Amino acid sequence: MQLPDYHIHTARCGHAAGRMEEYVERALKLGLPEIGFADHVPMYWLDQRDRDPTLAMPPEQLPEYVAEVERLRAAYPGITIRLGLEADYIPGYEEKLQPLLEGYPFDYVIGSVHYIDGWGFDNPAYRDGYWEKDINRLYREYFKLVRLAARSGLFDVVAHPDLIKKFGYRPRDDLREVYEETARAFAVAGVCVEVNTAGLRAPVGEIYPAPGFLRACCRHGVPATTGSDAHAPSQVGADFDSARRLLVEAGYEEIAFFKGRKKFFRKI
Ligand code: ZN
Ligand code: FE
Ligand code: FE
Ligand code: ZN
Repeated sequence: MQLPDYHIHTARCGHAAGRMEEYVERALKLGLPEIGFADHVPMYWLDQRDRDPTLAMPPEQLPEYVAEVERLRAAYPGITIRLGLEADYIPGYEEKLQPLLEGYPFDYVIGSVHYIDGWGFDNPAYRDGYWEKDINRLYREYFKLVRLAARSGLFDVVAHPDLIKKFGYRPRDDLREVYEETARAFAVAGVCVEVNTAGLRAPVGEIYPAPGFLRACCRHGVPATTGSDAHAPSQVGADFDSARRLLVEAGYEEIAFFKGRKKFFRKI
């Protein structure tokens, strides 16, 4: 049994390459059982004029995106293709996001924290923002937002749950307690933790999340999903052998699949 790749982007977001067919064909070639597109949600929390077309699709493209996934599903009966979405969590804007998610037949919605007080901390263009901040405090603020995202009830999965490590800046503080508190919040909220291999391609060179966080999730009974965060067809299913190893070492025996925002499990 291979792992599903539930985190695949499309050129609509303005920073991914290739046609959607190429992503599907790459998955077929690898023999993946299932994939899901999860492109970036339109920047619903900003006014139209402030939205960056290189970060997310414009709102009018969302229906086309959905239709395209449905078309591919019919065109490739040899692989299960799910309709997902990667939606930023911005506190205070929950009521703007909710109707957007209810308007389409998503199989799952992945919630992401990419902003701390409006600062896109994972964007290489704003990396200098780290110099003026206390890294210990930043980690705490980040994980607090991650817990709020989990508790919002908007998401099925929390993406790359320690993305704050992306550039390799590490806190002096021991993170065990933060991991424990966050894993507990995931369990109570009923969300899945995403094992995301894009961290291996980032400066940090480590899968999201860290082994200690994934172990805490497993102990608390938090289900796991897998994703490559592919922004190019060649990245589909990338490093999934490492993802499997990390999952097994953390204690996982099964992985969550989604259909119509309901999950089911298969042995890994
Ligand atoms: Zn992206
Ligand atoms: Fe993301
Ligand atoms: Fe992504
Ligand atoms: Zn991502």
